[in-house]
Parts: sequence; structure tokens; C-alpha cells
Amino acid sequence: MLHHAMSIDIGATKIAAAVVRSDAALLGASQVSTPQTDDAEIVFRAVTECAVLAGQESGIGAAEIVGLGCSVPGPMQWPAGVVSAIKIPAWREFPLRDRLIARFPGQAVRVHNDGIALSVGEHWAGRAAGSNNMLAITVSTGVGGGLILNNQLFHGKSGNAGHVGHLAIDSDGPACGCGGRGCLETVASGPAAVSWAQDQGWRPRPGMGADGAGLAESAELGDAVAGRALYRAGAAVGQAAASLANALDLDCIVIAGGFSRSGRHFWDALQEAFAEHAMSFARMTRIEKSDVTRNSGLLGAAGFVLFPDRYGWII
Ligand SMILES: [Zn+2]
Repeated sequence: MLHHAMSIDIGATKIAAAVVRSDAALLGASQVSTPQTDDAEIVFRAVTECAVLAGQESGIGAAEIVGLGCSVPGPMQWPAGVVSAIKIPAWREFPLRDRLIARFPGQAVRVHNDGIALSVGEHWAGRAAGSNNMLAITVSTGVGGGLILNNQLFHGKSGNAGHVGHLAIDSDGPACGCGGRGCLETVASGPAAVSWAQDQGWRPRPGMGADGAGLAESAELGDAVAGRALYRAGAAVGQAAASLANALDLDCIVIAGGFSRSGRHFWDALQEAFAEHAMSFARMTRIEKSDVTRNSGLLGAAGFVLFPDRYGWII
């Protein structure tokens, strides 16, 4: 029998919602821009309006919905769902889960980090389907991720397991926003790679932004500095992925985010660094590229409530 969940994926630039069916079909998918405001209520209203629209468009009534799953950038208090997303400045200690419960009474509501939702989406219905032990790494404005171990979403003691962006890969590297130094994120995130390239003299092509997408396009068009920046980011992700495969004996690692869609500089470096650093058993770990045509974040957030035995938690 098929079940349905309301799923909401909140990002810094867009909010997506859909009714997700337990065979991974998205019904009534809707999307709005994230309001760029310092008013927490305006952002919350955009979230609820997007969800209500998805519900209406789906044709699925509230009585048929088993719960509401929500993906949001961190940091957050888990499982309380109190959100202070760096990328959404309007929300500081915003009680997102309590507000969703009040707005959608009678629904089980689970809120978790976007990297966690991504890992669930990839495990349930994406490139890691069938895997028992997998890691998702998203390389975007930050570097995040999530872990499935023994076929279960692994939260850690405070819901923060999977913060792979803060693996220290260079003890002499740049200072990180987390207070550490030389974290993966300080080398491989879009802004970090752009900053490094700019220090080497790179400038975006006319009409392109000084961002990860602009850098990746420059690399594809043959700009040597941009190519080195992408290569450097890919090597750092490959080194971190190998360390995690060595430690956790994973069968699959899925790479997602903007740089996962870039070209050979990033991917060649990632594969080379992985092969160099992975131990014998870890070399068997599959490295997969997330399929961007599937919305793994939305699917994963739905998974929190559709499959609570695997991806849920006591709330
Ligand atoms: Zn850090």
C-alpha cells in the first residue's frame, strides 16, 4: 500500500515542497524563491504557502498524509528543530518544528539538516539504493553530508553526524568558521575555491558570477587557474572520502552539490586522491554522482516520516 508525506526542502535561495508518495513519486511539486529578508515570519509564510500549494496541486487530502518532513540548512538543535541557519539570516533560534506543528496540526513533523535529508534521499531512492553503509557528501557553498550505517540513518548523539565539511585535512590550512583550521570546507566549498582562484589572479568571464558555477565554467573553457582550483577541491574531497571509507567500511559514497556537476578537473582529482588514500578494502567503495534530476533533498525529508524505522527518530 502506498503512503504519502508532505515534504519541504528549505534552501538559501529556494523553497521546494511536494507530496511524496512511498514509491518516490513527487506530486504537486511547487517552488518559490526564499525571501531575502531579516523578517523570520516572512520566510516562514513562504514555507507554509509553498507546502499548502503542493498539497492542493497533489490532490492528496490531509487525512492521507502520514506526516511532514522538512530539510533545512544548519546549524540547528535536533530533534527540536530550532533553526539558526547561517544561510537564512532571518532565522536565529527559530522554532521551525513547533511552528510547523501549529500550522499543520495532527501531523508528525520531523525536521533535520539538509545534508542528512540528502543522504536519506540517495539511500532510499537515489544512487545509493540497496546500499547498507553509505555516505553522502554535498559540495556547495558549504560542504555537508549524512551517513547511513547498517541500513539506518545515523544521527550521532546530537544529530550532527555527517558534518564531513569539518574533517581536518590540512593542519596548516586556512582558519574555518567552525573555529578549526584546514577543514575540508576551507578548501573544497564553492566560496573557498573561488577565493583561492582569485588570489591566483582568476577573474570571472563577462556575464558570469564570481562563484562556484563561474569558476567551473572557466575551468571547462580552459582557464588554467580555475582548473587548478577545481582540481584542488576535488582532491580534498577525494582525500576526505577515502579517510571516511577507511574508517567506516562503506559500500557507497554519493557526491552531490554544485561542484559534483563540474567537469574532469574536479572528478579526476577526486578519483585520484581517493585511490591514493583508500585502503585495500576501501577501494571497493563505489563513488557515485548524485542525479540532479531527482530531488534527493525533498525525497529524503519525506523519508523521515514515510519510513520512520529506517530514517525517523523518536519525537
Ligand atoms: Zn571547520
